[in-house]
Amino acid sequence: MNLLLIHAWNEKEVAYRGKFSALLSYPSLTLAVIYSLIPEGMFEKIDVVDENSQKVKYDKEHYDIVMVSFETSSSLSAYKHCDAFRKRGSYVVCGGYHATALPDEALQHCDTVICGPAERSLPAFLTDYQNGRPKTLYRDFNVCPTDFTVPARDKMTKHKKLNIPGITADRGCFNACKYCSMRTMWKSCPRPVADVVAEIRSLKTKMLIFYDPNFFGKREYALELMAALKPLKILWVSNATADFGYDHELMQAAYDSGCRGVLIGLESLSAQSLTGVGKRFRETDKYKEVIRNIHSHGIAVNGCFVLGFDSDTEEELLALPERVADLGLDLCRFAVLTPYPGTKLFEEYDRDNRILTRNWGRYTQHEAVFRPANLTPERLNEIYRDVWKRAYSWKHVFRRTFSSPWRKNAYIFILLGANIGFKFLGIDKRYRK
Ligand code: SF4
Repeated sequence: MNLLLIHAWNEKEVAYRGKFSALLSYPSLTLAVIYSLIPEGMFEKIDVVDENSQKVKYDKEHYDIVMVSFETSSSLSAYKHCDAFRKRGSYVVCGGYHATALPDEALQHCDTVICGPAERSLPAFLTDYQNGRPKTLYRDFNVCPTDFTVPARDKMTKHKKLNIPGITADRGCFNACKYCSMRTMWKSCPRPVADVVAEIRSLKTKMLIFYDPNFFGKREYALELMAALKPLKILWVSNATADFGYDHELMQAAYDSGCRGVLIGLESLSAQSLTGVGKRFRETDKYKEVIRNIHSHGIAVNGCFVLGFDSDTEEELLALPERVADLGLDLCRFAVLTPYPGTKLFEEYDRDNRILTRNWGRYTQHEAVFRPANLTPERLNEIYRDVWKRAYSWKHVFRRTFSSPWRKNAYIFILLGANIGFKFLGIDKRYRK
């Protein structure tokens, strides 16, 4: 039997970023994890296509099973692949975030949907398939640390990508932000520290990205993990929440273990907006202090902001570039609020008839797909593009780079490169004038 694994991407997103798309994207672990769950010897051949850097070819050969993983914005590409392979006689399986949120929709394009984590469901499906009795739906969120496998990174096609491996220690987060799609997919379930360390050793790398959505969320676990990372002498980055910036013991342990950067979803400079979406840390007046504290431990901060919350006004949004610059971040990103199906926010907006389109290909975080409270969707889109443009003026690019804690060493070139990359690629080039 032959098997094809596809990680689908939104065609438009890949197209607008052009050849830099793959270079700028982190290596996805999705396919490597799925591959590692397949019993050895079950298939004569397994092909892998990450659409971010490869093309899906329908007629290259016949595949008995095609598995497609995708997020909401890439669901249209994914369904196109599913339909094409079904027409050619393949058994098609869908998984990933969007299929988990809307399994009935996915089932219109495939034979089986795997909802949630694949660790237990995928082996169960493969056994049923071999026995000639595959079910249409598998849903098992009760994954425990012993279910985790080491991702089969060596089986992935070597395409140009950011050459820093990614790893996950805990895919979950205990916070409950209304717009967050992570919670639909994963529960917190930290891997044994020894397993994480063994996997890092096997990577033989000096730099690493932890994909954990909230690395420091389970404080004691984070401290234990960081103590074990220290002897490895690697440099790493991950995601954090703003309260990390008040915990000096945690910040020092992070630096000592090699942490040099954190990405924080600051989301808004309005406490009211954060309250409205259930964000736990809402003290926006403390952001500057939080960033200064993290910097004082030698760690850089990439701050992410969302435009379009209900209490956002045009004036506040237009003031963002200067206000964000004043925070002293090393890098910043902006996104339009996007109510993904499966989230509380989607439920709420759908109930209030505020969802403007169910064309999932537009759920890219680059445009309003809902009716904002205080401005039109068109105006929100204009302001979003204007904010990116002004936040990435050369003045701000250089100011961020040369005031960073990284300015005293060679990382400054990485930071400058990232700032310039965002200047040119942070926003769809159709809108860059
Ligand atoms: S803190 Fe981040 S990962 Fe956790 S629920 Fe909120 S948005 Fe999601």
